[in-house]
Amino acid sequence: MGKTIAVIGSGFSSLSAACYLAKEGYQVTVFEKNESLGGRASQLKVEGYTFDMGPSWYWMPDVFERFFNDFGYKSSDFYSIEKLNPAYSVFFENSKIDIPDTLDDIYAAFEKIEKGSAKALEVFIADAKSNYDVAIKDLVYRPGISPLELVTPKTVTKLGQFFSNVSKEVRKKVKDPRLVSILEFPVLFLGAKPKDTPAFYNFMNYADFGLGTWQPKGGMHAVVEGMVKLAKSLGVTFVVNANVDRIHVENKITKGITVNGDFNAFDKVLSGADYHHTETLLEVENKQYSEQYWEKKIFAPSSLLFYVGFDKKLKNVSHHNLFFDTDFEKHAYEIYDDPKWPTEPLFYANFTSITDPKTAPEGCENGFFLVPLAPGVEDTEALRSQYFNKIITRFEEKTGNVIQNNINFKKSFCVNDFVSRYNSYKGNAYGMANTLLQTAFLRPNLRSSKVKNLFFTGQLTVPGPGVPPALISGKLVAGLMID
Ligand SMILES: Cc1cc2nc3c(=O)[nH]c(=O)nc-3n(C[C@H](O)[C@H](O)[C@H](O)COP(=O)(O)OP(=O)(O)OC[C@H]3O[C@@H](n4cnc5c(N)ncnc54)[C@H](O)[C@@H]3O)c2cc1C
Repeated sequence: MGKTIAVIGSGFSSLSAACYLAKEGYQVTVFEKNESLGGRASQLKVEGYTFDMGPSWYWMPDVFERFFNDFGYKSSDFYSIEKLNPAYSVFFENSKIDIPDTLDDIYAAFEKIEKGSAKALEVFIADAKSNYDVAIKDLVYRPGISPLELVTPKTVTKLGQFFSNVSKEVRKKVKDPRLVSILEFPVLFLGAKPKDTPAFYNFMNYADFGLGTWQPKGGMHAVVEGMVKLAKSLGVTFVVNANVDRIHVENKITKGITVNGDFNAFDKVLSGADYHHTETLLEVENKQYSEQYWEKKIFAPSSLLFYVGFDKKLKNVSHHNLFFDTDFEKHAYEIYDDPKWPTEPLFYANFTSITDPKTAPEGCENGFFLVPLAPGVEDTEALRSQYFNKIITRFEEKTGNVIQNNINFKKSFCVNDFVSRYNSYKGNAYGMANTLLQTAFLRPNLRSSKVKNLFFTGQLTVPGPGVPPALISGKLVAGLMID
């Protein structure tokens, strides 16, 4: 009795939780509405090109390692990773900066651009490392139940950093606007503006420069495949094309779920689908959060994405490329303060076939382009096409590639697709931002306060957006369910 668990969705957080729960002897069934597993880390294979549809930066390898170690394995038992050099390239209006793969080389690169910046960066990174040790090795593994979780002898000494912000602290260290942008970039993964992100979160800079950027062979989807293999070996059952349309509750206890119209009884239910969507599967009296609650939250951006197959190899680009050749502040304002399509967007492009040739046909390149957008903006074919032309023209100018007539294949993905494919609130790409007021116990709960045996995991709850936090979120909720 009490041993069957339904997991809604198959994103990283659900996969992680499923593994921990199965290891404890629960009978776990994962129901995924789409045709494949992995959630936002879906894979697109077409005409010989392979694309990761969502996450592409493998940061914080220690978190992945810790996950597999919990089951007596190493990540290399499931997939191999390679450190990228350059980690990434950043294109500015009239220059390009490559970020090397060791701290010493990064210090040297900074010093060449701004005299004295190497020393300042060294101090900044030492602090970022100390925050990483506190946050990622300890704090994020606490379930966000009480504010007291955040009070430790180490955090008390860092209290001031929760009341300053990343943007301010970075500007105390470097003056060159390009170096400022490079140091502000990592916290964008947390979903808010650097100005709205507590200085304590500079641990992301240590993740970037100190730990490096890695690439799994076969792409991020290789990680999904590894986790699914592990889950299956622990006895987890997966059902795809399985849309959960209702969570049944009687007297504040869930009895199971309806999948594609059929009732399935379970002792406990865990949802890794977007939190807001999961609550729409409940009767009003069993919802914890109102529409006004979600409306007031700061969400991570949505994105306009393009998956493009080129019929030739490209020059002057790296595996990961950031195009910071327009006004960062203005784009951020048009995402968070005055939501609309950005006037001159910053964008990101990756070409995994540069380091993993199997992801494109011989002599070809696969390209993934991402423009961050405000969640909930209007999404039409005409707008997608207008922005494709905008970024491709800039890409050609900045890199010297001529590519508009070398496209074998092109597919776009935007706000409407995030909603229809993932049931994403307002089409957010990566969840709810980590700001001071949206941290730890201030985020939506892992455990329902209304329904006794209903739980939540994923990027809208604790600890927050990103693949490593999703792995941690699964571990945290499994811990609560096992208790
Ligand atoms: C474009 C993009 C780029 C990103 N880049 C990075 C990156 O480089 N590095 C990084 O670390 N992170 C990145 N992220 C963030 C990262 O991908 C996410 O934080 C993480 O994958 C979220 O996992 P999750 O388990 O919370 O949710 P999801 O992956 O969203 O999984 C939820 C699942 O639930 C399913 N579902 C929803 N409703 C139902 C229902 N009713 N019935 C059944 N199933 C349902 C969905 O189909 C989905 O499969 C990126 C995200 C995006 C979108």
